[in-house]
Amino acid sequence: MCKHILNAQVSIRSPCCKKWFDCAECHAETEQHRLQQTLEMVFACKKCRKCFRKQVEDWDESDEYCPHCDNHFLLEAKTPKMALQVEGDDVRVDARMIKDDREKGEEKKTIWSLGEDVADKLG
Ligand SMILES: [Zn+2]
Ligand SMILES: [Zn+2]
Ligand SMILES: [Zn+2]
Repeated sequence: MCKHILNAQVSIRSPCCKKWFDCAECHAETEQHRLQQTLEMVFACKKCRKCFRKQVEDWDESDEYCPHCDNHFLLEAKTPKMALQVEGDDVRVDARMIKDDREKGEEKKTIWSLGEDVADKLG
């Protein structure tokens, strides 16, 4: 169960270890290696439990919806505000978040940071 994203609507399959995660933080906590970048992400909708692929490169608004049940997953799953949730709770979590923020900056092209970008775009 993901504790970083409130009401996560999809799971994402990591291209490196082929496991399902709700977000990049879940991957970082579970795995010892860095998350591999990819332009094609594999998702699993939590509502209808079906899988689908998305090209991250030419992402548009229709890509924010599950192609099977039209579940709007992306905006629901935006991650950055998790800081409010865990603030001051656990120093180790804070340290990890700082590290992840830096990594996110390098990984602009992946879905893991796309939520923020799209949210900004939509205002
Ligand atoms: Zn991995
Ligand atoms: Zn998570
Ligand atoms: Zn669905």
